[in-house]
Amino acid sequence: MTGASDADKLILIVEDNEKNLKLVRDILQYRGYRTIEATTAEDGIALARSDLPDLVLMDIRLPGMDGMAALQVLRADPHTAAIPVVAVTASVMPEERDRFTAAGFDGFIEKPIDVKSFPARVQAFIDAAKPRQ
Ligand code: MN
Repeated sequence: MTGASDADKLILIVEDNEKNLKLVRDILQYRGYRTIEATTAEDGIALARSDLPDLVLMDIRLPGMDGMAALQVLRADPHTAAIPVVAVTASVMPEERDRFTAAGFDGFIEKPIDVKSFPARVQAFIDAAKPRQ
């Protein structure tokens, strides 16, 4: 499935900043995606396990466990290991990008969120994901 038919995909947003969370939620819902939300890594992991989203947008700087550690937990669990996880971060230095890739993120999206390009980038990550069994 491609294009508009994918717009009912379920996306988990893990973000502790209320404004960023609202912005991402509003953009995605406007495009027809279904969203679920967590403001901590721990809650995000629990939601990923229970709802098995099609994509996780993971803030890196979170209270308590950070996004990097949360990714490792998701990857270590067979139920969530295959879910694509994208880092959402203000860190766009080349060495930081390499660090996210090395950690196992499927990609990253820069903050502040670019409203125009964001939906297409999200869809590209969904399209790139292998179908799960
Ligand atoms: Mn944050």
